Amino acid sequence: MQRRLLLRGMLGAGSLLTMGEALAQARPAAQPVPAPTPPPTRRPPPRLIAIDAGHGGKDPGAIGVRGTHEKTITIAVAQDLARRLTANGRYRVALTRDDDTFVALADRVRHARERKADLFISLHADSVPNPATRGFSVYTLSETASDDLAAGLATSQNAVDRLAGIELGRHSRQVRSILVDLLHRDTANASSHMAQSLLDHFQPPFQPIQRPHRQANFAVLRAPDIPSILVEMGFISNVEDERALAQRSTQTKIADRLVVAIDGFFAARRV
Ligand SMILES: [Zn+2]
Repeated sequence: MQRRLLLRGMLGAGSLLTMGEALAQARPAAQPVPAPTPPPTRRPPPRLIAIDAGHGGKDPGAIGVRGTHEKTITIAVAQDLARRLTANGRYRVALTRDDDTFVALADRVRHARERKADLFISLHADSVPNPATRGFSVYTLSETASDDLAAGLATSQNAVDRLAGIELGRHSRQVRSILVDLLHRDTANASSHMAQSLLDHFQPPFQPIQRPHRQANFAVLRAPDIPSILVEMGFISNVEDERALAQRSTQTKIADRLVVAIDGFFAARRV
C-alpha cells in the first residue's frame, strides 16, 4: 500500500496504479509521446437577438378592420419569441420594449447597438386600403438608403468613431470610407440572408405576398453593424389575417418559425 501511495504521488494525484501498470508506464522505450494538451474549450456566449415589437404606448400602429391594434400583436409575438429563444440558454435577447410603452425609432436601434446585438428583428403587421391584400413579407434596408448612410458615416466629422470594433478615427477619410463601405456591405448581405432564411422557413398557413422580400428605408433597419430585418406578419386590414394574427395559436406559430429561421441563419454563417 505504501508503494502504491508513493507511485501515486510520483504520477500525480488521481492516478492509482498497480505495480504492473506503473512499470509499463515507466519503461522508457514504451513511453508514449504525450499528446499536446488541447486548449480549454470556451463556448462562445450565446448570440444576442434584439427583438423589436413595433409601435407601443400612444402609438397603436395600424388598426385592424375589427379594431385590433398592431402594437398588441407585435408585443405578443415578441415576448413569445423571447421565451423560445432563451429556452435552454441558446440565445440571449434584448427586447426594445417589454410592455405597452412608446419607444422612439432611433432609441430602438441605439438600444440594440449598445447591447451589441448580433441580429435585429422588428415585428409589425401591415395595413393597406385594399381589404383583399394579405400575407407576410420581410424588409431589409434599401441599397440607396444603405449607401447614403455609409457615405454619411464615412464623411461626417463626428461620425460614430468606433464601428464593429474598428477605430474609424485613426484612419484617413479615404480608408474610413472603404471600411465603412465594407462593413455596410457585410451587414446588408447578412440582412438579406436572414430575410431569405425567414422566407425558407415560413410555411403554410402563412402565405407570402408577391415578391415577399422587399427593401425600404425604415429607420429601425439602419444599424450599420447589425443584420436587421423587419417582418410584416400579415395585413390587419384584411379580416382573415387580422383574425389569425390576434390568435395566440398563430402568434406562437410565427414565433416558432422565427426561431427556426434564426437557427438557420446562424448555422449558415458558421460555414
Ligand atoms: Zn408597424
